[in-house]
Amino acid sequence: MGRNYADHAAELNNPIPTEPVLFMKPPTALCSLQEPLSWPVQFGACHFETELALLIGAPRAGQPTIAGLGLALDLTLRELQETLKQARLPWEKAKGFDRACPITPWMPYCDDIDLTAQQFQLYCNGESRQRGDSSHMLTPVPALLEAIAPFFSLQPGDVILTGTPAGVGPLHSGDQLELRWQPRVGQEYSFTARAQ
Ligand code: ZN
Repeated sequence: MGRNYADHAAELNNPIPTEPVLFMKPPTALCSLQEPLSWPVQFGACHFETELALLIGAPRAGQPTIAGLGLALDLTLRELQETLKQARLPWEKAKGFDRACPITPWMPYCDDIDLTAQQFQLYCNGESRQRGDSSHMLTPVPALLEAIAPFFSLQPGDVILTGTPAGVGPLHSGDQLELRWQPRVGQEYSFTARAQ
């Protein structure tokens, strides 16, 4: 989902949407955050967007369920995206290229995890860049699943990225990223990634 945090919509001079902005990445975009981050450098700046990610599980009573949680980078070729937006063309080339969706290992989702109280942060070369708090989502997770349902039948193994907070910026070769995440009070995970 795009533009799920008002502060990020504002930093890119986008209006705050009244409906969730949905776009797709193909399976070939998925990769592990533990592998070096890579992108087609000939298309200009590639931005990091740190996002809470949901792994869809087997349906229950006809409804999709959440099997796991993680963090993902919605890697975005920002200059190409701007060109496509101005030409009113789809964004897929800018957001769906090979390896455009590095993801952490999944943490099993349990009922004691509060989806409205997920905190996550991105540090680039030791500097704080993004601070996410899922309580600030314009469309929280249950409403997001409802907004997806009329268009896309979620399948087990599908992944939903829930939007990025402010602070996105370009990756440079050799950048060291650290993603921190507090899924529960008193619990913290840290993941590191490196730009090729
Ligand atoms: Zn995003």
